[in-house]
Amino acid sequence: MINKNVQDAINEQIKNELYSAYLYLAMSAHFEAANFSGFARWTRMQADEEMEHAMKLFDYLNERGGRVILQAIDQPPIEYGEPLEIFKMILAHEQKVTGLIHQLYETASKENDYATQVMLHWFIDEQVEEEDSAGAIVDQLKMIDENKGYLLVVDQQIGKRQSE
Ligand code: MG
Repeated sequence: MINKNVQDAINEQIKNELYSAYLYLAMSAHFEAANFSGFARWTRMQADEEMEHAMKLFDYLNERGGRVILQAIDQPPIEYGEPLEIFKMILAHEQKVTGLIHQLYETASKENDYATQVMLHWFIDEQVEEEDSAGAIVDQLKMIDENKGYLLVVDQQIGKRQSE
């Protein structure tokens, strides 16, 4: 039977991943409304990935004989700024999620739950990628500056993202 503290922490992280999916979907809706179809597609794919992260934890907890308890998900912001601001927000959000994954790892470590630590290695690696890809887009958007025409080129390019 899985330790109660570890179970609570995994349930908390399921909620965090679902919130991430919600946040990216809200951003995607914004990009759709603002006619940035590439960024809309990218954030929507990101939302799908976050949903997969939640389900990975969901399946793991069930596999360990734990009990999944779904919590209320906060409403994400409705209004967003320019693409650069949004991708800076995404980077900051992913950095925060990295911290949450590390906290969860520490809980598993304190409770000597080795299986959960091993499961979390995948998430730790994933966060390195998430921060890297968000950071790369922030850098790209920073180079645009006031050239709005080039913004559409970046939108097109980012929209070519392939599913993993
Ligand atoms: Mg995630």
